[in-house]
Amino acid sequence: MEIACLDLEGVLVPEIWISFAERTGIDDLRATTRDIPDYDVLMRQRLRLLAEHRLGLHDIQDVIAGMAPLEGAGEFLDWLRERFQVIILSDTFYEFAAPLMRQLGHPTLLCHRLSIDQNGLVTDYHLRQKDPKRASVQAFHSLNFRVIAAGDSYNDTGMLAEADRGILFNPPQNVVDEFPEYPVVTDYHAFRNAFCDASLRQITA
Ligand SMILES: [Mg+2]
Repeated sequence: MEIACLDLEGVLVPEIWISFAERTGIDDLRATTRDIPDYDVLMRQRLRLLAEHRLGLHDIQDVIAGMAPLEGAGEFLDWLRERFQVIILSDTFYEFAAPLMRQLGHPTLLCHRLSIDQNGLVTDYHLRQKDPKRASVQAFHSLNFRVIAAGDSYNDTGMLAEADRGILFNPPQNVVDEFPEYPVVTDYHAFRNAFCDASLRQITA
């Protein structure tokens, strides 16, 4: 049995925090791990900014509901789900991803969660586990699944290394240079072909 593990942001939907910063005009929310390498420091800053701007979960979800998956992502995901069991492995939060997952037909998503207080404000965040993408692929292996994984960035490379086959979708050039072992695709048609190539079964794009 084969399972397909997909990253979410940059593969099926835009970078959520960056889009959120653009839609709200809160420039400081554009910061990513490239600017602040310590993830906890970065998340504390994001939570502080949400509180300062009095953005509760409903406001955040309203903004995110105005975003859309990447063009062609829905069709690609439907194609993939007809041929593989598909699991989305993401470092986002369920509360953030919900409006976008609705637009993708609620595929299975393994990510992290936020704490929300009685006033609807975001008070904390909780990572599901350490190195979650790699650990998830290890778990699927323990269940006797062969895993084909695809992502776009550094936080996917543990998952790609652990998988039986890895694919890079629209990665930045530095990731292409550092991980030449993975095929690189830049559109959904080529992405389908890469999954066909990676599969042990005879499937067609
Ligand atoms: Mg990504």
